[in-house]
Amino acid sequence: MRSTGPLSSGSTGARRQQSSPRHRTNSKANGARTLLGIPTKWLLVAAVPIILGLVATIRLVIGPSRPAPRPNILLITLDTTRADHIGAYGDAMARTPTLDRLASEGVLFERAVSAAPITLPAHVSLLTGRYPFSHGVRNNGNFRLANDVPTLATALHDRGYRTAAFVSAFVLDRRSGLSRGFDEYDDHFDSRGALEPDDEIERRGDRTGQLAENWVARQVGDVAAGRPPFFVWLHLYDPHDPYTPPAPFAELFRSLPYDGEIAFDDAVVGSFIERLTRLGVLSTTIVAVVGDHGESLNEHGEVTHAVFVYESVLHVPMIVWSPGRLGPARVAPPVRGIDLTPTLLELGGLPPLAGAQGQSLLPLARGGRQGPASAYSESYFPLFFMNWAPLRAIQDDRWKFIDAPAPELYDLAIDPHERSNLAARQPARAAALKRALDSVSGTGPGAMATAIPDRDAIEKLAALGYIGATSGSRVENGAAARPDPKAMIGLFNRLRDANGFIAHARPAEAEATARDVLDADRTNAFATLILARAQTQQGRYLEAIESYRTYLGLVPTSADAHYWIAICAVRLGQADRAVDEVSAALAMDSSYARARLLRAGLLTERGRLDEAASDYQQVIEQQPSNADAHSGYAVVLAARKEPGRAVEEFERALVLRPDLDEARLALAGVLQQTGRVDEARAEYQRLAATAADEVRRTAHQRLAQLPKP
Ligand SMILES: [Zn+2]
Repeated sequence: MRSTGPLSSGSTGARRQQSSPRHRTNSKANGARTLLGIPTKWLLVAAVPIILGLVATIRLVIGPSRPAPRPNILLITLDTTRADHIGAYGDAMARTPTLDRLASEGVLFERAVSAAPITLPAHVSLLTGRYPFSHGVRNNGNFRLANDVPTLATALHDRGYRTAAFVSAFVLDRRSGLSRGFDEYDDHFDSRGALEPDDEIERRGDRTGQLAENWVARQVGDVAAGRPPFFVWLHLYDPHDPYTPPAPFAELFRSLPYDGEIAFDDAVVGSFIERLTRLGVLSTTIVAVVGDHGESLNEHGEVTHAVFVYESVLHVPMIVWSPGRLGPARVAPPVRGIDLTPTLLELGGLPPLAGAQGQSLLPLARGGRQGPASAYSESYFPLFFMNWAPLRAIQDDRWKFIDAPAPELYDLAIDPHERSNLAARQPARAAALKRALDSVSGTGPGAMATAIPDRDAIEKLAALGYIGATSGSRVENGAAARPDPKAMIGLFNRLRDANGFIAHARPAEAEATARDVLDADRTNAFATLILARAQTQQGRYLEAIESYRTYLGLVPTSADAHYWIAICAVRLGQADRAVDEVSAALAMDSSYARARLLRAGLLTERGRLDEAASDYQQVIEQQPSNADAHSGYAVVLAARKEPGRAVEEFERALVLRPDLDEARLALAGVLQQTGRVDEARAEYQRLAATAADEVRRTAHQRLAQLPKP
């Protein structure tokens, strides 16, 4: 039965392939055939009009007795996904059957342009319909969407939609400000409370997808009718480097692992579509799929993305599937990521977002010719990360101009890979495009939504010697004199390698590279940060603190740097200094959960139990399934002689993370002290059987001391 729905049988998810022997054998054969190109796909394409026809017939029979219910909306953002690595965009080697089917039945935008080659700014643009200079989120990390900017989620939520987001990478966690408007915002990753900060903490797409599917299933329940519509956003991060697709894609794409990750995410999308079919809600759901940005894959000397604004990182897939509302179409003129939210709102019969710069693409999708006049893109990553010139670009249906210290002009019609810079040969055209660029974005840098510390925070920062920590003025001063990123990309690649050394605990190599770069580029912020981390890893905490301070001189709003100084202070045994520094981090970014957890632990150790409790409560409110927060709070409650509540919190922590042996040992201790000996014994027995050395020994000792049952 279930394989009769549109999109279902060709889009079998990876989990299904792994769990069903029949599928496993088929998948190899189908996989080979799909890679070569043909028959399965044709059969499936042929089946769809029949099924959609059936839906239309049923609608006719039922008759138009009441207005059509508002559609559900499924938004899938594909991180780091190039359009030209998808079958529907012409890649014959791709294995993207679900995206290809959505494209053939829906509207495929052939030239969708991302606003920024960076995950957070690009996503904020997608969800607000605004360019970065308007919403102010210009980079990952220290930027946060302001509370007064409406988003697709807030608009749909205000109109009664049930809303949920499931994101797969730390850069999109709720600190980004994107959680507003979502009833649920699932941003739990596998960080396991590690002290290493890592923006690339991620969750595999099938796990995120499963949670999103389950949420939809809970909304639909037994009776689909009469319930409010849902909006669900699923973010898939797998094609981000490193490229390590799971089976069977690792084997199928041994020489093209990046494409293997895209194939894997296609299977995740396929699984979701199949689930919607089984739940009976696919025909009432608009499906939109869009890339946040692409991946350079060594074009122009860039390995991944973020520095440059060439088409390899700006040209993304964008597909809107809504049979019955939108006929199949391929739209050729350039469109923008910021046009997606206006399009979805109009498709759902809702008014446009206040302040949106994007426009609805429905007229284009329905055969019109008039699209956006131009598409703007930018990267401020070179400035914030490297202290180099930022890059801004504008393109129309043929020409593209990049505003860099050495400007660039490309004729995309004949030079889509941007190999021949015509700026010197066609200065008038370059100047006209520069004027167009300035008229779109203004000549200044535009909005910068960095976390702005409040008065109390500024005082604390000043006490620590951070006068001017709130200043953003460095963006405006002397931008023209900064190095041109295209002249510096080799240096950046060396730092990328150095960063990789840090990730693999090879600090000596990282330090050597960072020092080399600093010799050539004294104020390089990224190199300074790598040097600091390398010193931290080598246990040279005093030197590391100095390097973090230098980094703060270059990037005054870095909450992470304060957090890391705190970590170094902890290791130097300077707890008071650590509390001050982690407080500075929290002053800059009050939603920095990891920093708050660290402070709570430090305050607990110093006997400042009420302050610690308050920090733990805030983290729990922010991240209800953070096991470390529950177990830390339990320790505070036990110390405050509130054993009943302590036991409850320990149990919450252990439900979330049964492997927290030390929390279990502490729980057993509290149970024992309060006379609940049988329960204590059960916990000790469990630890004596399974825990690691020290906890296991302690459990044995305490068991021996307990009265015999
Ligand atoms: Zn991204």
